[in-house]
Amino acid sequence: MRISMSTNELNTNKIDDNKTDNEEKINKKEIADNQTDDKAINNKNDKCESKDLHINESILSEEILEDLKKNRTNHMEYMPDMEVLDSDIDKQVIEAMNNYDYDKYTAKDVENAINATNRTPEDFAALLSPAALPYLEQMAQAAKIEKERHFGNSICFFTPIYIANYCENYCIYCGFNCHNKIKRAKLNYEEIEEEMQAIAKSGLQEILILTGESKKMSSVEYIGEACKIARKYFKVIGLEVYPMNSDEYAYLHKCGADYVTVFQETYNSDKYETLHLAGHKRIYPYRLNAQERALKGGMRGVGFAALLGLDDFRKDAFATGMHAYLLQRKYPHAEIAFSCPRLRPIINNDRINPKDVHEAQLLQVVTAYRLFMPFASITVSTRECARVRDNLMNIAATKISAGVSTGIGSHSDDIEDSDKGDEQFEISDGRDVKEVYDDLVKIGLQPVMSDYIYVG
Ligand code: SF4
Repeated sequence: MRISMSTNELNTNKIDDNKTDNEEKINKKEIADNQTDDKAINNKNDKCESKDLHINESILSEEILEDLKKNRTNHMEYMPDMEVLDSDIDKQVIEAMNNYDYDKYTAKDVENAINATNRTPEDFAALLSPAALPYLEQMAQAAKIEKERHFGNSICFFTPIYIANYCENYCIYCGFNCHNKIKRAKLNYEEIEEEMQAIAKSGLQEILILTGESKKMSSVEYIGEACKIARKYFKVIGLEVYPMNSDEYAYLHKCGADYVTVFQETYNSDKYETLHLAGHKRIYPYRLNAQERALKGGMRGVGFAALLGLDDFRKDAFATGMHAYLLQRKYPHAEIAFSCPRLRPIINNDRINPKDVHEAQLLQVVTAYRLFMPFASITVSTRECARVRDNLMNIAATKISAGVSTGIGSHSDDIEDSDKGDEQFEISDGRDVKEVYDDLVKIGLQPVMSDYIYVG
C-alpha cells in the first residue's frame, strides 16, 4: 500500500533520510507517538535556544534598534508609488481568517469533508483543524485520488535561478535581509545567459527567476531582460520578485513571464508587522494584493504561500487557501499554485527552528490544499529533504524543483567565485535533475519537463 507507507514515512519524523521503506499501516497511535516525539525534540531544542526563534541577533545592533524606534512606519498604509486596487479580496481573506476557530471542528466534520465531492471553505477549515490529525491516512488517500484525477501521475520539474540577492527589506527571519552581513551579488546579462544555458543543459524547461526585493538594484527593466533571455531557453517562466504594480506586471508578461509567486509569509497583520520592520515589504495590504495586480497585468498564473512556522500555521494555511479560492472565483482563468515552505536556518542565524511545523502538520496542510482546490499546482521546495518531497509528490503535490542552489551564479562554472553571492537559506534536498527524475520514476511517477506550449 503506497499511501500507507508514505504517510507513515512522513509521520515518523525520521532525522535520517536514508532509512528503508516501512510497509506498516499508519494508525492513530503512531501519529500520536510521532507527534509526542517530535514535540519532545522541539521542546528540548527550545530550551537550548533563544526565546524568539525568528530573531536574527546579528542585526540587533543598538544603532539599528534606535533607528527603527524613530522610523517605524504604519504597515497598513500604502507608500506613494504603490497602486491601490479597487478590490475587497484582502478584507475577505482577513475576515475569514479572523473568524476561523479551528477548535470547534469535530471528527464528524472531518469525515464529511473527506467524503464531499465539491469541498467548501467550511470543509477546508475542518481539514486543517486539529480534529483532522487522526485522519491523515484517509486525507492522503482522498488527496491522491484527486491528484490523479486532475494530473495523472505527472510531476512538473523546474528550477529557481537567483540572479541577485540585494534586498531593501528587513525581514528578521531571512538571510537576505538588508542588515544581514552577507556577500551581495547581481548577475549581468551575460552571466544570466551563462547560468540559464547551464540549467537548460540539464533538460529543464521551466525556470523561476528570483531576486532579493530591491527595485533599485534589480529594476523592472533588469528583470524584464532576464525574462527575455529566459525565453530563449525555457518554455515556462515564473517570477518570485518584489511585488509591483499591475502595469509593471504587464510589462514583464510582455517580456515573457508566465506566472508570479508572492509569499505573504504570514496573514496575521500584527505578527507581520513585528517581522517585517522596514522596506516596501512592510506594507501588508500591498503584498496581499500582489497576485490580483499580477492577474490584472495579464499573468496567467499566480502562486501563494505562507511561511509555515512564522505564526499559527492553521490560520495561515487557511488564509492562504481562502486567498487563492477567492481570487479563483473572481478570475476563473487564473492558474493557481501553492507552495508549502517551512522555516529554514539562515546565514548568521542557525537558531531558527525548522520544526515549528512538524511533518504530520505539513502533510495535513498539503493534503488539505489538494482536497480544497484539486486542480491547483502544489510545490514542495528543497527546504524539505528528499524523503519528504518524494512522499508528498506521491500523495498530493504536483511540482518539484531539482538541481537547486539558492546562491547567485552557482549553476555556471564560468562565473568567477568573487562574483557569486551568498545563499538565501540552506537547502535539504541537493539532488540534481537526473537524481530527482530517477527517484520519482522509481515510485511510479512521471516527470514532465513542460506541460505548456508557448505560442506568443
Ligand atoms: S524574505 Fe525576501 S524580502 Fe525579506 S529579506 Fe528575504 S529576500 Fe528580502
